[in-house]
Amino acid sequence: MNKNIILPVLIAFFFQFQEHKVLEIKGYSAKFPDQNATKILRAQVNELAQNNPTIIYINGQTNKKQIALTFDDASNIHKVNQIINILDQYGLKAAFFCIGNDIEKTPQIARNIDNNGHLVLNHSYSHTKYTELSIEAIEIDFLRAEKVFLQAIGKRTKLIRPPYGAINQDITNTLKNKGYSIAYWSLDSFDWLETINNIQQNIIKNVRNDEIILFHCKTSTIRSLPQIIENLQQRGFKIVRLDELIQKKAYRRKSYFIKSTISRKFSFDN
Ligand SMILES: [Zn+2]
Repeated sequence: MNKNIILPVLIAFFFQFQEHKVLEIKGYSAKFPDQNATKILRAQVNELAQNNPTIIYINGQTNKKQIALTFDDASNIHKVNQIINILDQYGLKAAFFCIGNDIEKTPQIARNIDNNGHLVLNHSYSHTKYTELSIEAIEIDFLRAEKVFLQAIGKRTKLIRPPYGAINQDITNTLKNKGYSIAYWSLDSFDWLETINNIQQNIIKNVRNDEIILFHCKTSTIRSLPQIIENLQQRGFKIVRLDELIQKKAYRRKSYFIKSTISRKFSFDN
């Protein structure tokens, strides 16, 4: 073997087996009615992520002082636009998990997100808990959402966050078989339930390296966001887009379209 090839091959070999550290999922709200259920779900998700390291991402590699902002339920165009404006002011890019049913009604939401350099990612079509659906129904649901996003922005998603973060091994396998990875979160802002001050404290007190932070497209989130961004930046945290943090592509390659017309076998090219 050529001497110039040996070193890169060794490095690639090493990185392939480098262990991915899975963070404990954090974020707390005293208002949440069932603390124990959260604890059990988080432990299950953590174990699932350890068993499926290239499919489920709770966090990045944990060696960099960086975080990614993610916003679920991008359903209201005005709220989404306000979040985009704030991100723009700080020159930041983020990920928006969109519901197919909402984007079907208002595709402009997805276009605004995409046109501003943010990610439009799959958050199901119906926002139903996947743990309550059959495998067949799950497949129909996320592929239907994928089609809606494709029509809206011309890109085919390959990162998903199932509604309510409800996942198990069967759901993971179903998504994996269709070329998807699951983008979970390591820090929950509880912005759908909490006051502005508590949302900010949840992030500011708990933030760690390579954290994926969960927000929703809510008024309380919009009001909390500038102070959170400024605090994190002052402390030296770089805010990067989710696909950069987890080193995973958000969309399928363009070649998908050519291949899919040649053979159905390749229709879920990674
Ligand atoms: Zn949601």
